[in-house]
Amino acid sequence: MSSTEGAPRGVIPPHLLRGQKALVTGANSGIGKATAIGMGRAGADVVVNYVSGREEAEKVVEEIASFGVRAVAYEADVSDEDQVVAMTNRMVEEFGTIDILVANAGLQRDSAFTEMTLAQWQKVIDVNLTGQFLCAREATKEFLRRGVVPEVSSSAGKIICMSSVHQIIPWAGHVNYASSKGGVQMMMETLAQELAPQKIRVNAIAPGAIRTPINRSAWDTEQAEQDLLKLIPYGRVGDPADIAHAAVGLASDLMDYVVGTTLYVDGGMTLFPGFATGG
Ligand code: NAD
Repeated sequence: MSSTEGAPRGVIPPHLLRGQKALVTGANSGIGKATAIGMGRAGADVVVNYVSGREEAEKVVEEIASFGVRAVAYEADVSDEDQVVAMTNRMVEEFGTIDILVANAGLQRDSAFTEMTLAQWQKVIDVNLTGQFLCAREATKEFLRRGVVPEVSSSAGKIICMSSVHQIIPWAGHVNYASSKGGVQMMMETLAQELAPQKIRVNAIAPGAIRTPINRSAWDTEQAEQDLLKLIPYGRVGDPADIAHAAVGLASDLMDYVVGTTLYVDGGMTLFPGFATGG
């Protein structure tokens, strides 16, 4: 069976996030792109953040606008404090507020440990961890300023941190990436604890192997894909829509009592499939 067989066919309810304003970082590629489109499909107005690749960002904006909601592309490096502050201020000016942040932007700079440069370590921590910290901090300020608007949502704001199964699965050759995602887990849980009394819901999604440019070498040859499938009990590589559906659900009031949780969307990768027949 081809691994794309059985890819998600879910239909996102078009009014689930109606009237809400969503900021999705790293939204011109892969998971962020699918999530921004999913938010728009669910009725939210969306800021499509990108750091490079304006044309692709504008295509995402166009697709979202076709659902009859507002979308704008905004260039900002999530690891740059001034740019993040300017982006969130601009979003509040243009859209009035922020209801949902999907802190998705991320990258890899892989290397064997002894060859890993400080620059490789720092870049991944800066974007994957510090970038989420900055975006979450600025969004939270707006959530607290505005408070709960019951006609819009039961909570004052939702933050979804894009983590990874590597927040709990060690990953040789990727110590910077795995450390950044381990950090995301503890940052998310600490923020969730700190902000829940203010009716702000902070959660994370931990994708398994999703077919995007970040991990092309893991799936773009038949052999690589077969090897990868050994780690996925559900028998297919994930699709960005799998994550978009989870993000839309988590952001919605259907999940209003879900606070400080990591939702693993991984086809069972974290079930230690190597132990299915032994151990
Ligand atoms: P991707 O490379 O397709 O997308 C990453 C996005 O982040 C791109 O739009 C990129 O331009 C953006 N980005 C990078 N640096 C940025 C910066 N400084 N400021 C703003 N944007 C920046 O990869 P993806 O797979 O869609 O990854 C999205 C998120 O999902 C990442 O956090 C990644 O760690 C996580 N993730 C992906 C997988 C997977 O299998 N694809 C698995 C687990 C976790």
